Amino acid sequence: MKKQHSKILDNQALLDIVALSSDAFAIYTSEDIIIEFANDAMLELWGKKRDIIGLPLYQGLPELHGQPFKQILQDVLKTGKTKDGIISAQVSIDGVLQTHLYEYEYKAVLDHSGIPYAILHRANVVTERERNRKVLAIQKSKVHDLNVALSASNEALQAKNEELNIKNEALSKLNLEIIKLNQELSGQANDLKHMLADLSESENRFRTLVDQAPVAVFMVEGADLVIRTANSLMLSMIGKDHSVIGKGFFEALPEIKEQPFANLLHQVYQNGEVHHGRELFARLNKNGRLTDGYFNFVHQPIKNSTGSTKAIVCVAFNITEQVLARKAAEQAQNHLELALQASKLGTWTIEWQTEELMLSERFRQLYGIDGDPRLSLEEFFQSVDPAYKDKVYSAVLASKQSQCSFTVEYLVNTGSPKLPRWLRSTGKTWFDQFGKASITTGTIMDITEERLNQQRKNDFISMVSHELKTPLTSVKGYVQLLKQKIDKDHSSTMLLYRIDKQVNQMTTLINGFLNVSRFASDKIYLEKRDFDMSILIKELLDDHFFYISSHKILLSKLDHAVVNADYNKISQVILNFVSNATKYAPAGTSIMITCCKLADRVQLSVKDQGRGINPENIPKLFELYYRAESGNNDNTSGFGIGLYLCYEIIQQHGGRIWVDSTPGHGSTFHFSLPL
Ligand code: ADP
Repeated sequence: MKKQHSKILDNQALLDIVALSSDAFAIYTSEDIIIEFANDAMLELWGKKRDIIGLPLYQGLPELHGQPFKQILQDVLKTGKTKDGIISAQVSIDGVLQTHLYEYEYKAVLDHSGIPYAILHRANVVTERERNRKVLAIQKSKVHDLNVALSASNEALQAKNEELNIKNEALSKLNLEIIKLNQELSGQANDLKHMLADLSESENRFRTLVDQAPVAVFMVEGADLVIRTANSLMLSMIGKDHSVIGKGFFEALPEIKEQPFANLLHQVYQNGEVHHGRELFARLNKNGRLTDGYFNFVHQPIKNSTGSTKAIVCVAFNITEQVLARKAAEQAQNHLELALQASKLGTWTIEWQTEELMLSERFRQLYGIDGDPRLSLEEFFQSVDPAYKDKVYSAVLASKQSQCSFTVEYLVNTGSPKLPRWLRSTGKTWFDQFGKASITTGTIMDITEERLNQQRKNDFISMVSHELKTPLTSVKGYVQLLKQKIDKDHSSTMLLYRIDKQVNQMTTLINGFLNVSRFASDKIYLEKRDFDMSILIKELLDDHFFYISSHKILLSKLDHAVVNADYNKISQVILNFVSNATKYAPAGTSIMITCCKLADRVQLSVKDQGRGINPENIPKLFELYYRAESGNNDNTSGFGIGLYLCYEIIQQHGGRIWVDSTPGHGSTFHFSLPL
């Protein structure tokens, strides 16, 4: 289809539009390259005016002579082939030749038969651009070179880096090791610091320890045994002062040189072995006086790192007192054994844990036992005569329960053939720290002979008493008769009353002796019956106490209490208490009787305001024939049998008899009977 051009845009109009373009355009025709058209932009490029239009190229731009442009344009016109590129051209602008680079395009304009008839020239100054491009290229190549060099050096660097890394790794390993070593070192330094601190502290502590130790301590150092430390206990033990510190041992204690143990410290220093000394006798110069003592001690060698002894610590205990006490005890034991032998006393010990009886040789002799020194309690009691078993058992048990000592006389049937033998045992119980009875120990004595003698004596007294009693009864009868006959003669009556009183006293005495011999030969029998104690006391008041004019008899309490006992014998005990009170308390003082009913017993007490009894005499008071010495010309009559009889009577009733007394303030005698 054929192209149709608009009527409005004819050729001139098109050229005018191109003329307005900011791009430089020119049109050439013919072989001479006539400048047919050049827009303002092209004219400015050339530095020419509009007047060059229509001129051949070389006329319009004469400076192009010698430059290839005309030739190139002619070739385009001939060949019809477009030519373009960047080319340098010299143009005269404002009379000055200037060289610029141009980007150009020579485009052949063809007619309808395809033959070129004109050339359209489009151009741009690209001097700046090309220069920049060049600079850029140069810079690029430089950058490239630099990059190459850089990459080369980078590679080298990398290689170096790698090397460095390896070295770094090694270094960091080394560093770690060094850090570790440093840590160890600082730890060790710290340890060392602590050790040093500890050492000085422990040295200080050692000194303080030595100073404050509750035992005597000294330390000697070196072969010369120089005293380095000695606490005050040690100094006082050896009788020296602080001036010995720093001195050699023998210089400080020259008195030891000649004593048998002098070499001990040297020996310990040489053989490095601990030495324990026991009960060593030493004579020490204490403040100028040679003093004997016994010591237990330990010599402890202190060794250095090579194992050789550098010092010796000595800890000593002064056991002089203990040793002397033990020696005294051993001596006492020897004396005791001698005494036991001389007195033919046997000894025994009951171990309560095993309930066994440990017997001495003498004891075994008395019992006819061979060999084994041990006897069970049961075996022992089998040998005691049945009549005395309870008595012995109660005495031992009472001692086990309270801390009181006991003396008991009893009959045993021992040996083969079995023979009766009288023994007296005295014992006391020892308690452990928990208050439990651990042992009861005591002596045993054969009193068979003594008993026989006493028996003989009692028999004799009994016989004499009987013999005396018969005529005395007759005398009393005659006195009674006489009293009735001569009661008008006052003075004779008084004399008879006195004779009667004396006869009564003699009768009481003789009865006493008779009773003693009866008790001693166990010929006394209790005639027990139930009666009220308050009634008995009232009867005594009416029949006996009423007639006492020397003292005031008072009743402070009188409980009703029925007992099963021998009425006469209990009366006899109370009478004896009151009679003694009148004997041993000054006339005019009061005698107070109390009868108290308690939970399981009745207790009777007779209190006087007399001289009292010394505590050491109290345990013997109830023994036969015992009379306490008063110290002030005592002229009270008596034979010391009254309280003995009271004791026997109360014992036979299963009761208890005792006395409370304060010397100078009176005594109170008590007995109690079970209800
Ligand atoms: P006697 O009175 O005949 O000497 P006893 O056996 O009755 O014998 O008394 C023994 C001893 O006890 C007395 O010699 C006396 O020393 C002492 N005695 C007894 N009762 C009292 C008392 N109430 N006050 C002080 N001493 C007493």
